[in-house]
Amino acid sequence: MAEKETMQFDAEVEKLFKLVIHSLYQNRDIFLRELISNASDACDKLRYKALDKQELLGDDPELAITVTVDKDAGTLTIRDNGIGMTRKEIVDNLGTIARSGTERFMDRLTGDKKQDAQLIGQFGVGFYSAFMVANKVQVLSRAAGKKQAVKWISEGKANFTVEETDAMEGRGTEITLFMNDESKEYLDKHRLEHIIKTYSNHVAFPITFVDDLGDNHRLNDGKALWTRPKSELTQAEYNEFYQDIAHMGADEPWMTLHTRAEGALEYTSLLFIPSRRPFDLFHPDRSTQVKLYIKRVFIAEEGLDIIPSYLRFLRGVVDSEDLPLNISRETVQNNVLVQKIRRAVTKKVLNELTKKADKQPEAFAEFWENFGPVLKEGLCDQMEPREDLLKATRFRTTKSGDELVSFETYIKRMQKDQKAIYYITGENHEDTVQSPQLEGFKDRDIEVILLTDSVDEFWVNVVPEVSGTPLRSITRSSKELDEEFADTGEKEPAKDANKEEKSAGNEALIQFFKTTLGAAIADVRTTQRLKDSPVCLSAAEGHMDIRMERFMIENKQLPSSSAKLLEINPNHPIIRQLAKDIAGDIPKAELEDRIHLLHAQANIIEGEPIKDIAGFTRRMNALLSKAA
Ligand code: ADP
Ligand code: MG
Repeated sequence: MAEKETMQFDAEVEKLFKLVIHSLYQNRDIFLRELISNASDACDKLRYKALDKQELLGDDPELAITVTVDKDAGTLTIRDNGIGMTRKEIVDNLGTIARSGTERFMDRLTGDKKQDAQLIGQFGVGFYSAFMVANKVQVLSRAAGKKQAVKWISEGKANFTVEETDAMEGRGTEITLFMNDESKEYLDKHRLEHIIKTYSNHVAFPITFVDDLGDNHRLNDGKALWTRPKSELTQAEYNEFYQDIAHMGADEPWMTLHTRAEGALEYTSLLFIPSRRPFDLFHPDRSTQVKLYIKRVFIAEEGLDIIPSYLRFLRGVVDSEDLPLNISRETVQNNVLVQKIRRAVTKKVLNELTKKADKQPEAFAEFWENFGPVLKEGLCDQMEPREDLLKATRFRTTKSGDELVSFETYIKRMQKDQKAIYYITGENHEDTVQSPQLEGFKDRDIEVILLTDSVDEFWVNVVPEVSGTPLRSITRSSKELDEEFADTGEKEPAKDANKEEKSAGNEALIQFFKTTLGAAIADVRTTQRLKDSPVCLSAAEGHMDIRMERFMIENKQLPSSSAKLLEINPNHPIIRQLAKDIAGDIPKAELEDRIHLLHAQANIIEGEPIKDIAGFTRRMNALLSKAA
């Protein structure tokens, strides 16, 4: 037999211990939920493995969990006959933080107790929560199909010991907690029964409590919660289940969706939408957290996605009656039935979201704030149900104030001759709503959608229209955009001669702008879309929007920015003065300075860097000293 080994915990685990032991949890009861949850996972894993290796179950086929108290010894023991762990697995699983999620969680710790307490409460630290209530933890384990059992002991300090042992019968894992002085309450029969019933009633394996007299009490019916009829279940029961599987701490689901599909496609889904953002929502390697079950057996394959990634905020289970149990990862991704279930579940979720958005807009706003940007990722993918996604999509507009608007509402209140759905994208609401590009639209009472999530840059490029109405950027120059403003002149009919004279003046002005700015701009033109601002930048026709381009450059997908279109407002006093002065005898250098300053201004408003800072400062100072 290999000898006893003393090993160091990972530095990260040690950090975690300190936090946990200093009782950062507001609610210490949850250690039991974590340990029972692990026991249940271990049973799930064995049941899956036994599908093609029946002999692993041996003479102990009834998977179950027992909780035992020894008052005299001051210990609480949680035992399962699940998959168990080998020596190496015990060292890896309990000695290091192998889970990337935990690692990321550790990165987020600030050292500030209060903040960290909140974070830890959101995250849950699984097995290590045992050290909230115990000053020593012993784990005995025998992996399914293996002869040798292992003993692991830790006192929640820098190290732990592992050795092989004969002190265990049967398969699975037995975790014994030597309760600390503040936690003796957890040896009380009623207290324990109450906690287990509260937090673990839904567990799909029977849980038996053995009290200090040796009496057995069965605590749950061991039936998977989602298999029970909706009418029998209370929201409290759904919440417990959610809290167990969601790893969202004490969060309550924003929405609970329990569906049983019968007929051609038979499956049950129990899905939850969290009330807040999981901290790793935008982490690239984050996969969806909806578990696939087939006929109540958890399919423990890594990377199985039964839900599209733009619904990755969902938690819960999908349990299919039709899929073959021996399905593997490759076959799941290509299986027609899986794809059908995926589509059906996706549609259901989107429809429910749309319903909620229509009926309870205020409650929906909370969801949208958390997950709207994720949901909109789906709009980028042609294969996804775009119509349904567009129906669930909401946005703020130049007319909506704080309320969220749907495309349907927008289209209903379009102006009589309005040719398109107009939008502008920007970094944030405050700046975007100030954009000079909006002036002409405000003037004509045309509503403009304000899009300020990064993902908006992407989907607007692949969604050409909504319900037959084109979707159009107001910051990208196009013929169609000009057409919307083509009839401007008619509003204030001017004498033809006057008009001609004006346009000749504009021609000279434009030419002067072009020679002055040279290659710094793609083109110069007058626009009717500005009212209070003299100039603005826009993307040249056929080019990507300015913000999209910036994004691509930041991500090194584009080497440098392209030249922009400078649009000038011929009715603005500054521009009119400039036109006059070009014809007059103002020194050319001074006029050029004005043009450079106008160009710089347009860049600043657009959030683009000014290329020639020294020149800008010099010109600005020259102007200011004139005023002085
Ligand atoms: P999580 O359950 O989120 O993976 P935990 O900290 O709760 O994280 O557990 C860490 C790991 O230890 C588990 O992933 C599992 O591999 C192992 N483990 C814990 N408890 C058991 C158990 N009762 N049986 C088998 N393995 C277990
Ligand atoms: Mg766990």
